[in-house]
Amino acid sequence: MKDKIRILQQWIDDSRSIVFFGGAGVSTESGIPDFRSVDGLYHQSYDYPPEEILSRSFFDVRPGEFYRFYRDKMLCLDAKPNAAHKKLAELEEAGKLRSVVTQNIDGLHQMAGSKRVWELHGSVHRNYCMKCKKFYPVEFVRDSEGVPVCSCGGTVKPDVVLYEESLNSRVLEGALADIQNADMLIIGGTSLAVYPAASLVRYYRGHRLVLINKSPTPYDSHADLLLAAPIGEVLSQIKVR
Ligand code: ZN
Repeated sequence: MKDKIRILQQWIDDSRSIVFFGGAGVSTESGIPDFRSVDGLYHQSYDYPPEEILSRSFFDVRPGEFYRFYRDKMLCLDAKPNAAHKKLAELEEAGKLRSVVTQNIDGLHQMAGSKRVWELHGSVHRNYCMKCKKFYPVEFVRDSEGVPVCSCGGTVKPDVVLYEESLNSRVLEGALADIQNADMLIIGGTSLAVYPAASLVRYYRGHRLVLINKSPTPYDSHADLLLAAPIGEVLSQIKVR
């Protein structure tokens, strides 16, 4: 592992346009559960599986039930950025890192200071009235009861990509362009099993593809450097210079 960290440091030192692509594993170290993992929310007492509750058709038909689950399990507003979030923000500040592409919706990268963040699945921090498009902060959703309602009477919906919904094309295109032009791609805390993660990786054309994940992924053999360790543990050993 020490040798691998040394190579990672060398590559970071030599790169000027790094893109970091991260998944749920980046946030679990901040105490945010991965609802897809076996130890995650499957064992919770809800009448429907998380994937069903977090689908657009479920939201449209049972918004009250959606929001009960969402407030309970998806709003982790006390969570703080961890070593991985902080190091990535430092790398951007130092002009080494171009952007963060994330599947997470918790806003922790921005809280750590990252500026250019492509949130593929949206963010709990943005909420809009479905009728008049008025913006509402996350506190409004947290503090309301049942289904949050706009002053115009419309339903307020989180700017989060639910199952059955398509990704925001502007966000996706921005992420793809950054990955295409990256001189180093670091993938961390994702099993690369969920769309569009795997397809995004194929846009990278360089020779510094780093994969940092505790468990194996379908892309392990494509990696130029593979570190089987928690992302925070790895990045905390990296020096920004
Ligand atoms: Zn409204």
